[in-house]
Amino acid sequence: MAETFQHARDLILARVAPLEAEEIDLFEAVDRCLAQEVFASYDLPLWDNSAMDGYALRAADAQEGTVLPIIATLAAGANPAGVEVTPGTAVRILTGAPTPKGCELVIPYEETAELDNQQVKILKTQVSGAHIRYQGEDIRIGSLVLGAGVILRPIEINLLAALGQAHVMVYRRPRVAILSTGDELVEPGTIPGPGQIINSNGLALSAAVRQAGGLPILLGIAKDNPKILREKLDQGLAADMLITSAGVSAGDRDFVREVLTDVGIEQIFWKVDVKPGRPTAFGLRGTTPVFSLPGNPVSALLTFEEFVRPALRKMQGDKQILRPLRLARLTSDIRKKAGRTNLLRVILVDQQGQLTATSAGDQNTGITSTLLHANGLAILPAEKDFFAAGEQVEVHDI
Ligand code: AMP
Ligand code: MG
Repeated sequence: MAETFQHARDLILARVAPLEAEEIDLFEAVDRCLAQEVFASYDLPLWDNSAMDGYALRAADAQEGTVLPIIATLAAGANPAGVEVTPGTAVRILTGAPTPKGCELVIPYEETAELDNQQVKILKTQVSGAHIRYQGEDIRIGSLVLGAGVILRPIEINLLAALGQAHVMVYRRPRVAILSTGDELVEPGTIPGPGQIINSNGLALSAAVRQAGGLPILLGIAKDNPKILREKLDQGLAADMLITSAGVSAGDRDFVREVLTDVGIEQIFWKVDVKPGRPTAFGLRGTTPVFSLPGNPVSALLTFEEFVRPALRKMQGDKQILRPLRLARLTSDIRKKAGRTNLLRVILVDQQGQLTATSAGDQNTGITSTLLHANGLAILPAEKDFFAAGEQVEVHDI
């Protein structure tokens, strides 16, 4: 019995869980998923400081036409101790410098005229508090700054660093073993002999694993021979996830299913009502997920996208496991067989706020160039067999 597309994904996601957390250097942390809550260990800004190059004044002195003596200069990094703006004086201050005692506002250079090096004339009246960045106005000491499950972008890295953290707890990246099966395969970099094809899936799936945040391990090629296959599968099961490609169809030499059972894999499903990707299998040994993807490169990549990538995101603690779905209008009629979900390779174009989906070309799974031109997938539900041009369908970016 084949699983429905939705149910197959639910079965997978119900059985994978985030890996343990590890502490890493912030330098390595971009794109990783935070495994801790982060509370502010101090205020940001740390102290009141100037938002402009200008003059620190008392509010009463910030009147158009007033002339004030300049009694000191504070640059960024200067220690303001010992400097005080007294009534009737001005302190020259640079952006980011701590505001001195007595400072009630900063008047920017542009709103002043320096008469000589010692006196400044105010050209525009300013109110108390102008151009001061106050201590804690951005982030308050003790407040929750980041929750667990957040993907670290440069701004999160900035905050962690600014709050004094040099290291951060993130979920471990899954190590993913990739095994290509088939007597016809030779490794990239060799010239295929008669009947041979290059194992392009190994590298393509490695790239997909890496993009999904995992650490690929290439196990190479296993010939269609149960003994060799068994050895390689055993090796792969030492990783956090194992992916095989090909050999799960019903052909004479499709041993993968049989050997997976031999090595103690609990079979969860063996077929999915999805096109492409019907011969997609999922099982577990202990908590290690094992995916057997179709051999056809287009099918392997699309089933990776829909089934493996979500599992990898969940294992890394990401809260956004699936890519966000949007609605797009089909630009032409699409016919399909009822009873199978179709993953239509499409070109998504935003036309003045209206998203359209155009078939990216021949949808035969043997045609890799269609996927090459596609930037999205339309998920056409199993029950329907016809979609009229102009109809809205669910799509996601790829
Ligand atoms: P199979 O699932 O064994 O029936 O293979 C389906 C198709 O995918 C066949 O045309 C295979 O030659 C091709 N194929 C299988 N494995 C790979 C691979 N690792 N790289 C590229 N193509 C493959
Ligand atoms: Mg084969």
